[in-house]
Amino acid sequence: MTNKNFYNLPLSKEMIQNLNSIGYEFMTPIQEKSLPYTLENKDLIAKAKTGSGKTAAFGITLLDKLNVKKFRIQSMILCPTRELADQVAKELRLIAKFTHNVKITTLCGGVPYKPQVHSLSHQAHIIVGTPGRILKHLSEENFLPNDINTLVLDEADRMLDMGFNDDINSIIDFLPKQRQTLLFSATYPDNINNLSQNIMNNPITVEIDTVHEKSIINQSFYEINKDGEKKDAILKILNNFKPTSTVIFCNTKIACDNLADDFEDFGLDVLVLHSDLEQRDRTECLVLFANKSYPILIATDVAARGLDIDNLDLVINYDLPFDSEVYTHRIGRTARAGKSGNAVSLVGSTDTELFEDIQDYIELNFELKSLKDEKINYDFKLTSEWRTLYINGGKKSKVRAGDILGALTANIGLDKNDIGKIDIMERCSYVAVRTNVVKKALDGLSNGRIKGKYFKIYEK
Ligand code: AMP
Repeated sequence: MTNKNFYNLPLSKEMIQNLNSIGYEFMTPIQEKSLPYTLENKDLIAKAKTGSGKTAAFGITLLDKLNVKKFRIQSMILCPTRELADQVAKELRLIAKFTHNVKITTLCGGVPYKPQVHSLSHQAHIIVGTPGRILKHLSEENFLPNDINTLVLDEADRMLDMGFNDDINSIIDFLPKQRQTLLFSATYPDNINNLSQNIMNNPITVEIDTVHEKSIINQSFYEINKDGEKKDAILKILNNFKPTSTVIFCNTKIACDNLADDFEDFGLDVLVLHSDLEQRDRTECLVLFANKSYPILIATDVAARGLDIDNLDLVINYDLPFDSEVYTHRIGRTARAGKSGNAVSLVGSTDTELFEDIQDYIELNFELKSLKDEKINYDFKLTSEWRTLYINGGKKSKVRAGDILGALTANIGLDKNDIGKIDIMERCSYVAVRTNVVKKALDGLSNGRIKGKYFKIYEK
């Protein structure tokens, strides 16, 4: 993190105060390098990864320009996945808190279309979504793009990898030529170069030095001789690190499910996230992990992008990824925004080449360590301080975080410190409460009202 604070920028006092109030006192390197240009409406190509503070870099830029009184879509953000789009929308809402009534709508594929059409009929200021679904809305004239003055391509390399090139170009054909275009990409292959030449106007290019990132993630690699040793290795690693929040990456869904079964046998509570899950279950899984109700998330790479969990202290590669770049994305889930973190990888007997490729890619050499002499401590447990209660009412029922907090404190008598993260979704809500008061909270909420209504409450 640099020492430049936001006061050096031509931003409103309210915006700066709000940034400070959410803990953004100093600019991250990507913000420091890009904001002076983007606030002057210049196009930008930024080579920066998730975790660098890039969302705020473009978020501050587009919110600075936004005319809230004009109820028209003024910014469009294209993301490769629903998870990233949700993450971006969440971060924008946080930064937009200084001004009232900024409406941000997400338009992603894989979720029902009609409600999005309905929501667009009520207008919005900013839309965030995946290219296929946004193109469908544009083609069906569900919104007018005439007032869009900022286009952001987030994780552009990933969007091209996923085959969105044609959709992106078709979307751009709908947009006004006079606009600011900001392109963020972790890597900069030729196809990104081609795309940027066609759609940008004299962009400035900034690149974030990765040396700092390398030094704050402690990476280690352990040798595994037989596949069957992997589970024991993971238990030894967890026992050594005693992490509160860990993501374990496997290359296949089956490996995720098998590992989850093994953990269950061992009495460890885990969440599993992969593409076989329905969108609702994927969202719920991320909520339960982010609010610290479960210490372990086992995932395939769908989770790697856009997963923004505070204080994730350990990433484990159960399988080494086939692509070295994916390795850096996975381990980048820890050590967010200047914090430190740990990444541990298991290297099987057939993974020697992958291990070498990774070392070449990140330009570091590692010793391959052994866990053979370490014993498994069978008494060891990873428990969570929090549990989650599900409430079958959300935004649609006009439930707000304050209503749930009020019901738990004023009506049921819980202490504020016993209540953790509250997530309000369209049709349901989640509240984390400390394990020792979960029964009291569950009984109290089940028998009482929230905002004058009775809701069904379940423990998750
Ligand atoms: P991103 O790269 O946009 O995914 O951001 C990574 C994390 O950094 C998010 O949790 C942000 O809330 C956080 N962040 C962004 N900018 C700042 C800042 N200037 N100071 C502290 N944290 C920040």
